Amino acid sequence: MKHKSIILGTGPAGLTAAVYLARANMEPLVIEGPEPGGQLTLTTEVENFPGFPDGIMGPELMDNMKKQAERFGATFKRGWVTDVEVESRPFKLQVDGLGELETETLIISTGASAKLLGIPGEKENMGKGVSTCATCDGFFFRGKKVVIIGGGDSAMEEATFLTKFANEVQVIHRRDELRASKIMQERAKGNDKVTWALNKTPVEMVSDGMKITGVKVKDNESGEEELIETDGIFVAIGHNPNTEFLKGKLDMDDKGYILVDPGTTNTNIPGVFACGDVQDQKYRQAITAAGTGCMAAMDSERFLEGEATVDWSQNLS
Ligand code: NAP
Repeated sequence: MKHKSIILGTGPAGLTAAVYLARANMEPLVIEGPEPGGQLTLTTEVENFPGFPDGIMGPELMDNMKKQAERFGATFKRGWVTDVEVESRPFKLQVDGLGELETETLIISTGASAKLLGIPGEKENMGKGVSTCATCDGFFFRGKKVVIIGGGDSAMEEATFLTKFANEVQVIHRRDELRASKIMQERAKGNDKVTWALNKTPVEMVSDGMKITGVKVKDNESGEEELIETDGIFVAIGHNPNTEFLKGKLDMDDKGYILVDPGTTNTNIPGVFACGDVQDQKYRQAITAAGTGCMAAMDSERFLEGEATVDWSQNLS
């Protein structure tokens, strides 16, 4: 069965594209991956999505977007895309659980996932004191000490945020100098609850078998190791775009973010569009993702309009 449009991913970008394409009678098929709703389902309250003066819970916002897309005729299916063929149209997708799918246009909105350090004790203590989401888990550390690993804007933002709950938030960074913008650094530095452990590389996360008790770090100058005691560890060292399955198929930057023509969602393959965090490492907001999702829907609709000779009624069953 051939589709007019398939959307990969169900974060704000993919769901907004689905609303727009469904309203344009493009009958989009949306493939939901292992984390339906994307990163917003890992957060609690979203206070900066316009239209919700009292805030809205992340999962509820995503659920609402999905219902809105379904109301106009978008179809959702669970599946894991293992391969795409974009050399010629229709594009072919191999999807675990769904088999081979064909589509005339493809919207990629597979988002990004938090990077991990890859040190002992990290994965096994995820959810037991190790977290990649301060917004989701900060609440559990009321009155405690936490550390945050990273020196970028995310680490600064999360350090400041965590002081709402924790008594002390120690930033551990592998260099003397922070990567974060001046304003974010100053905000964190101006907060009495934030302390600093610079030029230290985390080597192991330590637990008592039930919960995290500390993180072992190596001083990059002296080479000495020390244990920093803590109740929680937040890892904020950036994100990886979810583009593994597209390697060699589309133009990407050296970090794997899909390249689009500025001001559009066009990739280097005509008919393939990218929106949301998978093509944006700068803004990474729900509202910017939603905005680019709208752009991708309009770009793909206009792409097909330019090929008005295609008789869709014969291909859809
Ligand atoms: P980032 O800018 O890439 O910073 C990642 C930080 O983690 C860096 O300090 C890096 O150290 C450190 N790091 C990376 N891998 C590491 C490892 N294996 N071990 C130890 N440390 C490691 O990522 P980000 O902070 O998530 O920001 C991403 C983008 O979003 C940026 O463009 C940022 O400006 C933007 N952002 C903006 C805001 C805002 O304006 N409100 C908030 C959050 C994010 P090095 O410095 O040594 O490389």
